[in-house]
Amino acid sequence: MAATERMIPIAKPLVGEEEERAVLEVLRSGQLAEGSRVRAFEAAFAGYTGTRHAIAVNSGTAALIVALQAHGVGAGDEVITTPFSFIATATSIIACGAKPVFVDIDPFDLNLDPGQVEAAITDATKAIMPVHLYGHPARMTEIAQLAEDHGLALVEDAAQGHGAEHAGQRVGSFGTGCFSFYPTKNMTTGEGGIITTNDDEVARLARIIRNHGQEVRYRSDYFGLNWRMTDLAAAIGSVQMHHIERWNEARIANATRLAAGITSVQTPKVREGDRHVFHQFTVRVGGDRDAIQKALLDAGVGSAIHYPMVIHQQPIMIQMGFDEGVSTPVAEAAAASVLSLPVHPSLSEEDLERIITVVNRLAH
Ligand SMILES: *Cc1c(COP(=O)(O)O)cnc(C)c1O
Repeated sequence: MAATERMIPIAKPLVGEEEERAVLEVLRSGQLAEGSRVRAFEAAFAGYTGTRHAIAVNSGTAALIVALQAHGVGAGDEVITTPFSFIATATSIIACGAKPVFVDIDPFDLNLDPGQVEAAITDATKAIMPVHLYGHPARMTEIAQLAEDHGLALVEDAAQGHGAEHAGQRVGSFGTGCFSFYPTKNMTTGEGGIITTNDDEVARLARIIRNHGQEVRYRSDYFGLNWRMTDLAAAIGSVQMHHIERWNEARIANATRLAAGITSVQTPKVREGDRHVFHQFTVRVGGDRDAIQKALLDAGVGSAIHYPMVIHQQPIMIQMGFDEGVSTPVAEAAAASVLSLPVHPSLSEEDLERIITVVNRLAH
């Protein structure tokens, strides 16, 4: 990297003066914990996703746990999910006392393969949990049909999918959606998450579970913990809502530019009719991936591996026995070859050109 060239980071959270003012206002108001700003943020996010309800919580992981529990997932239940995701997809299932059942992915979009779900359904199956990996929607029309045919809950891990659409419908509105607002996601609240649903009863239960299982103060009819979002986080989120669509469009434009310029490796595909919001722009590389990453870094281009191993091969998963009998060759091949390149809205034209030039020179 020439001394004059700045490093292009793999992710860059966008927060500015508007967020600063919003946070200061909350600090001065004295209402720091969950209050009117959480309710305002929930209303805005429900409108954005196209659901009747949104229930804000303190992380994407919390959203997954609370959503599963609101659907009654507990000890002895099985939840069908993808092995190719961030580990919280599976650990949230385990946190509810249930068992994650891993089904292989579709090589096109690296999401749960609906064609292999039916064979994994047993009497213990309670829910299906697809992930909209990298911001590309899973095949939700087919997955929702499977859930309906078998009377299963549908919980979407939409942590990477704010604004993504399948068949003209926003993800998080097919079943019960779970979003994350971690700083690297398409929008942030620092830490935070939200549950979206059209089901009045699931929404009611999620609100109770997030607050110690209390419907009225100091009386718990349900098992819950403190999963509440602060008004501080919600104030940031409400500001971010004003920008999320502009940022998503910038990600899509950057991805289009990268895909047109990069000729040396396989760039991500978008299924016809889907809206991919490019939380990540992930290519498939051959050869020595570590060496490619190091060379990119030397040329000032940040990159990351999402994810280097399938979930059931994580040490803790093997220790707990969740790898037994699991066969996911497509996911394992993906884990060995994926590489994410910068695609975030802060990239300049020169940044994009540099990424394209460097990748075409190094990778194959
Ligand atoms: C980020 C992420 C989560 C967890 O969200 P947190 O807000 O970090 O708890 C879960 N699933 C996926 C796919 C994610 O990318």
